[in-house]
Amino acid sequence: MSTAAGSKVNGIELTLNCAGLTVLIAGTTTAARSTVRRYTAGGATVRRIATPAQFHPRLLDNVSLAVVVEGAAADRAGIGSAMPANPRADDGGRLAGQGWEPLRDACRERRILTTSEEPATSGGRVTLIGGGPGVEDLLTVRAKQVLREADVVLFDRLGPYRTLPHLAPGAELIDVGKTPGHHPVSQTDIEKLMVARAREGKHVVRLKGGDPFVFGRGGEEVNTCLAEGIPVTTVPGISSSIAVPAAAGIPVTYRGVAHAFTVISGHQPPTDTELEALAKLGGTIVVLMGIGTLPQLTSGLRKAGLASSVPVAIVEKGYSPDQRTTVTNLGEAVTAAGLARCTSPAVVVIGEVVRQHRDFSATLEQALARPLGVS
Ligand code: SAH
Repeated sequence: MSTAAGSKVNGIELTLNCAGLTVLIAGTTTAARSTVRRYTAGGATVRRIATPAQFHPRLLDNVSLAVVVEGAAADRAGIGSAMPANPRADDGGRLAGQGWEPLRDACRERRILTTSEEPATSGGRVTLIGGGPGVEDLLTVRAKQVLREADVVLFDRLGPYRTLPHLAPGAELIDVGKTPGHHPVSQTDIEKLMVARAREGKHVVRLKGGDPFVFGRGGEEVNTCLAEGIPVTTVPGISSSIAVPAAAGIPVTYRGVAHAFTVISGHQPPTDTELEALAKLGGTIVVLMGIGTLPQLTSGLRKAGLASSVPVAIVEKGYSPDQRTTVTNLGEAVTAAGLARCTSPAVVVIGEVVRQHRDFSATLEQALARPLGVS
């Protein structure tokens, strides 16, 4: 397999295949840690110097690239600008960037490529990232940028976990995976782990499925960090509540059909008061974690006044090769889900918008299959 080290030079993202190359990385341990990790993960043989005094031209023998880690340990791209300033100055900050001229001159003489990178931030912190509905290309640009610099990533299987070794090269990856009804790492332990790693001075990323603040316990994790005095920030994500219906061709609102949508958790069956309010509102009802409580929800909504004929779609495993949509109605949903053996993760959509369900992906396939110039 070819290996690569993502690198950012003058704001331009580079992907270097550095298997078999020797790379000299100059900069203090703290400042250079993320750079060292990326090049090592990219297959390079990394040679290190922490201070200009350690430089000797012989260190450039066999080196193909020299990377100087310098500049202020700023919060790049404005990420987390609301975070309290870190009182501990970074040892790899502006000062470390000075004095590397002999190294640069020697590289010029020997025609060795040099690049500069900003230092990794020092001081522990936590970023909650919304990973979207599970595929890498639905991560935001900011999420990718933060992941690239993470020291530790706590992930579960709802986010885009499969490509993490590539997205967060060399970071410690910890699976805190929760499958429904089965919690290998408890929420308390996840939060403890997050705090403990941040206390070690690490940038901890908690990668969550969808958006961190939609049934993701993100609010609790933020509060824990704040209570422990750990700087914390969040990166929003594409929530499955909208994106998974969309993957099945269902718009959650539609002019003249539904001008409201309510996202509810099926983790516990809704109360009678909630069911009545939902039935009265008349918009689309989107249920997450709703497979287990589908019988209580559908019978409750019918009792609250919704007709048995109201359409229902169950969209399982959105954006995966196993994505499947079962279209039924409120009266028959439980039987249909049983016959189809519907399982989590799934998003249940209840309302007239389900009739707008269109498999428009077929139009793209047709367009691609048509020979050029023929309509
Ligand atoms: N914060 C997440 C939701 C967490 S609750 C978000 O904003 O999307 C977990 C539930 O989300 C699952 O039980 C399921 O109902 C839904 N879900 C998440 N990803 C999904 C996917 N790819 N396909 C179907 N449902 C999904």
